[in-house]
Order: sequence, then structure tokens, then C-alpha cells
Amino acid sequence: MEVVRTLPNRHRRMVGAWCFLDAYGPHDLTTASGMRVGPHPHIGLQTVSWLVQGEILHRDSLGNLQEIRPGSLNLMTAGRGISHSEETPGTHGPVLQGVQLWVALPAADRDVAPSFAHHDDLPVVTAAGLTATVLMGELAGATSPARCHTPLVGAEITLAAGSDARLPLRPGFEYAVLALDGEAAVAGTPVKPGPLLYLGTGRSSLALSAGIESRVLLLGGEPFEEKLVMWWNFVGREHEEIVAAREAWEAREAEASEGREASPPRGAGGNGGGGRFGVVRGYDGEPIPAPPMPITRLVPRGRVR
Ligand code: MN
Repeated sequence: MEVVRTLPNRHRRMVGAWCFLDAYGPHDLTTASGMRVGPHPHIGLQTVSWLVQGEILHRDSLGNLQEIRPGSLNLMTAGRGISHSEETPGTHGPVLQGVQLWVALPAADRDVAPSFAHHDDLPVVTAAGLTATVLMGELAGATSPARCHTPLVGAEITLAAGSDARLPLRPGFEYAVLALDGEAAVAGTPVKPGPLLYLGTGRSSLALSAGIESRVLLLGGEPFEEKLVMWWNFVGREHEEIVAAREAWEAREAEASEGREASPPRGAGGNGGGGRFGVVRGYDGEPIPAPPMPITRLVPRGRVR
């Protein structure tokens, strides 16, 4: 399935702690197969799954099985290690569209125990023709119940046709906007689906308007000052820990192919057996093998290239 990746990009790796942004769809599922992302591991980050249209079924190594739909949030905190799969469920609507985001965990929290949360009780902010659902963090006094580890915000904003509204921002945050559909003007700049509009810091409000009904994703947060190593599905601080995470995943693969995962020892690591990354049960397909490490050492990098 084709995705448009706007974070990290050539000029900028992060917006606040947001370090990865893929947008996909709208995909016509009446003529094409849907999403099938087999079991794969994560460390050092939170995955934020958000849909504009359709549905996705999440499974993880903690035993969670959760379908999400537009308006609800799936938030998976990888911490020291988790694995999951995402797929279009057997019964689904005709169109799939959404975004997959990662939030980097700060050093103090990056080794927390893995967890998963589903939120369908997200707060909504309204202003002249504008409706904002706050996925993560705080916007205009409305705070998402989702657990954040650094000051940030993520919100889906729907603008009615002819709307002209203003939202309060935090001058200490940097912000960016991704158009999801329609055609809006954000801080005077026209936005359409595709590129990410980076707004920087120092703003105390944001003007949003649209001639036709439009939807945008607002991301923001305190500039993230720690240097990161991002490789495959891992966020770390140095080369060696990425190597160790990769080896743990590949070792699990080897165990699974020898048939040992069929009967994990009881109480093995509290992660459903399968070592550091556990085992995703019920997905009809193979786990995703890790790519080879690059021949050069991975170098920690800051939020701006
Ligand atoms: Mn993932």
C-alpha cells in the first residue's frame, strides 16, 4: 500500500516528539486488498494510529486485539519492546485512509514496560466552523486522556465550508499541519494533501479557513532536544542498542521457525513468551524479518538536519 512519508524528511526529522508520519489512502478496497502489516517489533516510541476512513485491526504481543475506526485512537507504547500487526479486518468498508505516527519517548521513559490503549472518548474543541478532536496532548484547554511523555499535541481539525477560525497555540511549541482532504488555508498558506507545512515556534494562535469542507492534522510539541538513532522500527540513542534490538527480534524469528513458540514457558517475561518482543497471536501471515544493518555505524542525529 502506497504511503506518503513527511516525517522524517530532508530538512526536518521531528516536530516536538513526533518523529514519523505516514499518510495513506484514500484506497478503494472494492478493487484492491487492504492493509496487511505482519508482526514487527518496536522500541523507544509510541505508535499513534488514526483513521480518516475505514477500519484497521490491531494485534500485539500483550494479547490486545482492537479494531479502530475514525474518531478513535490506538496508542501503543513500545517502551523496552513490543511487537504488533495491523490489518484490514475481514468485514470492512469500501475505503481506507489514515495516518501512522510515532512519538519518540524521552530518555527517562524510553525503557518503560510496553502497553496499549484504545481511546474513543477524545475531547472535541469547537470554534467558528471548526471542530478539532484532540488525539494527544492539549489544545485550546481540551486535554486528551491518552498518555503522553513529553509536552505535545496532535489534533484532527475539520473545517466547514466557508469557515474562518482561530485556535490558540503555545509559543514554546513548534507546530506543523498536514492536509488530509479538501483545501484549507493555514496561517495564510494554502494546504492540500501531500506535503507537511512546518510552522515553527513562537506562535500564540493559528488562523484556519476553508472554502470547501476540509480536514487537517495539527501536530506540535516542545522541541525535542535529545539526539536519536532511528532505524527500521526502532528509536534509540546509539548504534549498539539498535543492533541488540535487531538481534533480539531475529532470535525470536529463529525460535519461531524451530517451532519453539508453540509452547512458550509459562510466565516467560510477561510478554506472552517469545523473549523481548513477545509473540503476536492470531495474525494469518509471517512476521516481518529485520533488514540487514547498514555497513556503517548509525549516528545519533538531532531534530533538524
Ligand atoms: Mn508498527
